[in-house]
Amino acid sequence: MALVPMKDLLEKARAGKYAVPAFDVSNLEFVRAVAEVAEEMRSPVICMVVPPDAEAAMPYLVSLVRTAAGQVSVPVALHLDHSPSFELCQQAVDAGFSSVMIDGSSLPYAENVALTKKVVAYARPRGVTIEAELGHVGKAEVYAGEGEDEGHLTDPADVDRFVADTAVDALAVAVGTAHGIYTAAPKLDIPRLQAINAVSKVPLVLHGGSGTPDEQVKDAIAHGIAKLNIFSELCVALVDGLKEFLATNERRAPWPMYIYEKPLELMKDVVRRKIELCGSAGKA
Ligand SMILES: [Zn+2]
Repeated sequence: MALVPMKDLLEKARAGKYAVPAFDVSNLEFVRAVAEVAEEMRSPVICMVVPPDAEAAMPYLVSLVRTAAGQVSVPVALHLDHSPSFELCQQAVDAGFSSVMIDGSSLPYAENVALTKKVVAYARPRGVTIEAELGHVGKAEVYAGEGEDEGHLTDPADVDRFVADTAVDALAVAVGTAHGIYTAAPKLDIPRLQAINAVSKVPLVLHGGSGTPDEQVKDAIAHGIAKLNIFSELCVALVDGLKEFLATNERRAPWPMYIYEKPLELMKDVVRRKIELCGSAGKA
C-alpha cells in the first residue's frame, strides 16, 4: 500500500478504543522489524523518524519506509517525530511524510500555538497529518547522558482552546510518562487523562511509552490514548542483540546479515509485544 495519513489511523483507533503503535525507525532493521510484524499481526502501524535521523538521512529513511509500505497489505503512516522547527516539518512534508509532529511544548502557550498553526497551514493542504504537544513530556533520568527533566503535565483546561486555536489532528499529552529509559516506574495520572479525553476533539498520543508498565499503558488506552510512541525499547533490543552476537559468534563471518539476525529477532519481539499491548492486532 501507499503511505496513509496518520489521522485516518488514529480516528479509527479512537473510535475502536485501541491504540496504533508508533515506532521510531533508524535503519533498515528497524523498518523491517516494524513492517514484517505489523503484516504478520494485521496491525496498522506508524513508522516515525526522530530529528537527528531526519537530518542525517531523511531521503534514505523515506525510501525505506515507502518500500516497506509497498511490501505489506496493512496501512503504514510515516511520521516526523518531535520536530523543533517549521523548516524540518516543511522538509518532511516535501519529502513524502504522511504526518509530522511540531513540538512547541517548551514554548509559552501563545508561541506554541503560533508555531503549530504555521505547520498546519503548510501540511494540511498537502494531505499531511499534524500532531502537536501541549504540556511537556520530559526526559527520564537516563536519556543520552542528559539530566533529569520532569516536564509539565497537560492542563485539561487548555486542551479545547489549543485544539481550536491550532486545528491540529492529534495531541500529545503529558500525563506522567518521560522519554528514554526509566530508573523508576512512572505513575500515570489517569484522572487527568480522562479529563483531557473528555474535552479533546482529536485523538491523544502517549509519548515515553518505552518502559511504562503494561497495566498503566492499557489503562491509558482505555481512557483515550490512540497512539503509543516507542523508541528506547527498540534501541535496547538492538544493542542487546549486537552484544549477544559479539559474545557468541566471534568466529562467524562478520557479515551484516549475520550480525543483525539477533537484533532483528529481538526488535521484532518488542514490536509484537507492543502491538499486543495496543490492541491493534487484526485492526488493519
Ligand atoms: Zn516523544
